[in-house]
Amino acid sequence: MSLEMMVGIKWVPNTQNVRFDPKTGTLIREGVPSIVNPADLDAVELALKVKDTYGGRVRVITMAPPSAVKGIEHVIGMGVDAGVLVTDRVFAGADTLATSYVLSQAIKKLGLPDLLFFGQETIDSSTAHIPAQVASWLDLPYVYYVDRVEEVNREEGYAVVRRKLEDRYEWVRVELPAVIAAALKSQVPRPVRLSEKLRFHRDKPLQTLTNKDLGLDPRCVGLRGSPTIVAKVTWMPEVPRKRQVFKGDAREAARWLVKKLAEEGILVREDGRWRVRVA
Ligand SMILES: Cc1cc2nc3c(=O)[nH]c(=O)nc-3n(C[C@H](O)[C@H](O)[C@H](O)COP(=O)(O)OP(=O)(O)OC[C@H]3O[C@@H](n4cnc5c(N)ncnc54)[C@H](O)[C@@H]3O)c2cc1C
Repeated sequence: MSLEMMVGIKWVPNTQNVRFDPKTGTLIREGVPSIVNPADLDAVELALKVKDTYGGRVRVITMAPPSAVKGIEHVIGMGVDAGVLVTDRVFAGADTLATSYVLSQAIKKLGLPDLLFFGQETIDSSTAHIPAQVASWLDLPYVYYVDRVEEVNREEGYAVVRRKLEDRYEWVRVELPAVIAAALKSQVPRPVRLSEKLRFHRDKPLQTLTNKDLGLDPRCVGLRGSPTIVAKVTWMPEVPRKRQVFKGDAREAARWLVKKLAEEGILVREDGRWRVRVA
């Protein structure tokens, strides 16, 4: 049997275009175009690189409203083989616990892949809960901040992955099946190709699962299955910026910067040395 890979992707409002309703404290999603969560394209790229080396199949899975088919089409355009849309009104209003529960049960139903990839976090909620929670529901090992899959040995049941930490790399040997979250901005996602997109329209490599297929208790999914309560939403006030720019040579620029920071009271002179003022 060939290597089976699956990637969780989320269809998110492009937050660069999102506005907030200051009265209700919620996102105004109307008219906001959605995109595949950018970090998930890193995960897709990582999986496709494994496929380039070892062959096999890459599928994506998303729990989302039907409009997310556009996102599946996008990644199929990158070379993903097939997509699974998990969708049902009963799944609406889910917090991360309910989302990861539905995803894990859908993945179980489809058959556990050897490698299950996720992005690091989303741009619209950015909890980074989902990969860890899915791993927990499925009782699988979980490695995050992965920027490279060094080796996959399906026969012996392990993979070696590289983790990108702040100041070093770490190599981890993990048993298969495993859950892997790609490090943010660690890949350059390959472009979408028209021929692959045409395959999406021609072959329709899309499977839809509803709760009829999964048979989950409605009390454990969607809003009813979500113990999280968002008590309040506020915004950080924008920090006023002076936007001063010094143009000149680097030494002069450094002196100018120190002088300005001293004028602002951020740097203070102590024992002949500049120090950051401790508030
Ligand atoms: C009380 C409450 C109610 C909510 N109600 C709603 C609601 O009505 N509508 C709504 O859209 N959101 C709702 N949310 C937000 C929702 O919980 C999150 O969108 C969702 O659980 C994913 O969390 P995240 O975006 O932080 O993902 P993260 O954990 O940051 O994502 C990490 C990675 O997991 C994967 N992933 C994340 N989500 C999915 C997914 N759905 N399918 C496949 N892979 C995924 C991606 O690879 C992603 O990069 C609600 C949250 C709370 C707390």
